[in-house]
Amino acid sequence: MDEKQLSMRLAKAAAYVPKKARLADIGSDHAYLPCALTLNHQIDFAIAGEVVIGPFQTAKEQVERLKLTNTIDVRLGNGLDVLTLEDKITAITICGMGGSLIASILENGIQKKQLSGKERLILQPNIGEYTLRNWLMNHSYKIIAEELIEEDQKKYEIIIAEKSEQVQTYTDQELKYGVFLKNTPSTIFIDKWQSELEKKQTILASLKKSSTDQSEKIQRVEREMKEIEELIQ
Ligand code: SAM
Repeated sequence: MDEKQLSMRLAKAAAYVPKKARLADIGSDHAYLPCALTLNHQIDFAIAGEVVIGPFQTAKEQVERLKLTNTIDVRLGNGLDVLTLEDKITAITICGMGGSLIASILENGIQKKQLSGKERLILQPNIGEYTLRNWLMNHSYKIIAEELIEEDQKKYEIIIAEKSEQVQTYTDQELKYGVFLKNTPSTIFIDKWQSELEKKQTILASLKKSSTDQSEKIQRVEREMKEIEELIQ
């Protein structure tokens, strides 16, 4: 992967950045995403935000090497602290982190009034999708699209959301399996939940062997397994 050939994961996320966007890519260790979008004339301006000095230097050198410093500003800082409302950001990408870390970055952004509510959020959690969707719902973000992709034998969800004037309500199943993903189950989706089912089967077997009373946990795992079975049948 480099700025010319993004990984499938980042390319999918990049495809949801609106044309002419003013982008903030948070956790931008090589600045690949903003560099690729700039080279393809997809965006007008970008901030590449990084909290760790090493990756920040790497991103900075990358942007300088490609002579993109007029368009991409590499900034060192925690989450959305690198943004000001004057940057007039219209899209934020946060990719390759856990869902709860992404949610906490967004939560800090709300607390510190770093979000105008006009930004499209393009989020790619490695895990913790439920927590992230729950955060979006509780902050009136509407999930407008979702992707589930597989690359190098790993599956990744990408969640795209925009602030809504209306309260957003998602069911527990939608938060867990995806608002769109669950309605049109792809082969990757079925594989993902099939392997979750297998993990739960192993858990169930060991709970049943326990010498202490595990009946509550057993009932819970059985309930979860039934739900997944119904979903992927
Ligand atoms: N976004 C790139 C991608 O998806 O390929 C890089 C993902 S890398 C696994 C996560 C990056 O996010 C690391 O460089 C890490 O230092 C950075 N990061 C983690 N927490 C952060 C935070 N609170 N603010 C800014 N960057 C953060």
